[in-house]
Amino acid sequence: MICGGIDIGGTKIEARLFSNDLATVEMRRIPTPKERLADFIDALAEQVRWLEQLSDEGQALPVGMAIPGLVDVHTGRAFTSNLPASGYDIAAILEERIGRRLPLMNDCQAFALSEANGGAGEGFKTVVGLIMGTGVGAGLTCDGRLTPRLNGSALEIGHIGIPAHISVAHGLPLWDCGCGKRGCFERYVSGTGLAALGGHKLGRPVTAEEIVASAQAGDKQQQEVMSLWAEIASELLLIIQLTHDPDCIVLGGGLSSIPDVVSLLEKPFQSIKLGEMCMPAIRSAIHGDSSGARGAAIMASRNQSNPSGAPFS
Ligand SMILES: [Zn+2]
Repeated sequence: MICGGIDIGGTKIEARLFSNDLATVEMRRIPTPKERLADFIDALAEQVRWLEQLSDEGQALPVGMAIPGLVDVHTGRAFTSNLPASGYDIAAILEERIGRRLPLMNDCQAFALSEANGGAGEGFKTVVGLIMGTGVGAGLTCDGRLTPRLNGSALEIGHIGIPAHISVAHGLPLWDCGCGKRGCFERYVSGTGLAALGGHKLGRPVTAEEIVASAQAGDKQQQEVMSLWAEIASELLLIIQLTHDPDCIVLGGGLSSIPDVVSLLEKPFQSIKLGEMCMPAIRSAIHGDSSGARGAAIMASRNQSNPSGAPFS
């Protein structure tokens, strides 16, 4: 089934039309209106109309949307830090404008759904899609489908605290997190987290890009920063294994493009895993930038094929 997906980000709203085999046919990005809700909804409606016209399917085209934040399954309200729509039922307001209700999902869940279906997690039973980029979060699928969850939340593992032994062993402060807590994984393993680790180790401001490039070029100090990052990130993989025991973890987000990221994480993970537990397959994402739109499109197609089914696909 031909379908469309819209990936709503803090800086751009990306619409993609997908073929029957879920390959991107066309893509269009427009800036995200940051101030007024009405402008934001206008921009969404414009992207939906573009997809409908491009496909020749009109309102019969399944279109799904993905958003960086929580979508409350009971009220439909979205909670997100960098859009002018937080606290609103975006799908309901958009419905008044376009005449139909489109499914809305969390972008980490969209990523996991996309990679579990025709992506790096294809063929595995239980797949966790872990995004390490500006933020850190994950989605969980079983048999290629999302699992129903009380709050409709993704796996908000970026807001679990780092282990005490890591903090003590490396003299790491418990940095404040945007969620209101301290010492969350996100503050150490996201892009800004890697930069903060570098700043802490080197005693001067440094960017994540510089750390990765210098470590690649053989700089010993920067390699130690990368090792520390990998050690902390592997503790996050261990938590995923201990809580969900997936047979595959797919890595996405900007930090998944670090050279040899899979082997960089596998080594420390191997050394801390519990007893005789088997290692899950760790893979880099295949669909990269298109994952948010692609996962939302898969959900919309399934909902349209089976409108009486559960809202989780
Ligand atoms: Zn946090």
